[in-house]
Amino acid sequence: MTEEQKKIKELEDEVSRLKELAYKDELTDLYNRHGFKDESEKFIDEVKGYLENPSRRENFLIKSLSLGIFDIDNFKKINDTYGHQAGDAILKLVSKIIKERVRGIDIVARWGGEEIIVGLVGSDENNAYEIADDIRKKIEEATVNWEGEAIKFTMSGGVASFTEAEDFDSLFKKSDKALYKAKQTGKNKIVKASDL
Ligand code: GH3
Ligand code: MG
Ligand code: MG
Repeated sequence: MTEEQKKIKELEDEVSRLKELAYKDELTDLYNRHGFKDESEKFIDEVKGYLENPSRRENFLIKSLSLGIFDIDNFKKINDTYGHQAGDAILKLVSKIIKERVRGIDIVARWGGEEIIVGLVGSDENNAYEIADDIRKKIEEATVNWEGEAIKFTMSGGVASFTEAEDFDSLFKKSDKALYKAKQTGKNKIVKASDL
């Protein structure tokens, strides 16, 4: 390796290190919002291309994309009852359960406080619903042991699928409305945007 190549390699390493810092959420080790947007962009472009080019569809590998937005139920009460650190432990476990249930290509990010977003690459809405509901059940079955207490918790979610002439913001809104419906109708459930 020449000096110049060495220098380039060093800069490249530094860029990936900084990217990791800028795109990751420290508590959960998931992507943060910036990371999600950056990682999902290429899939959105691919699916858009597929949907908008009927004559060239065979050129596209990824034909669908779905979003799942999850929010832990009654999290404020959990924090108030067991403390913020117990809440953090729950957030970490929830993140791990979600990450383990999806594929490596899917994108999982902490969207905000106790909200997690998942980009399911190649999934249609029914498929996304099945994965999301499976995650919901696993979370319902999980327990966090904290200072002698076995804490139980649940999570709600909304799923929506990318359709023609759509952008990320409208897909997000659809999933968020579905999540809102899940909260309004009893929590610990997943709602499909097409059922709204
Ligand atoms: P809902 O079922 O409607 O979602 O009710 P909720 O109590 O979960 O929702 P609300 O938005 O009222 O409260 C969210 C809580 O999440 C409040 C905030 O303190 C807590 N929270 C946000 N980020 C973190 C975090 O990083 N760690 C912990 N422990 N709590 C957090
Ligand atoms: Mg919330
Ligand atoms: Mg909540």
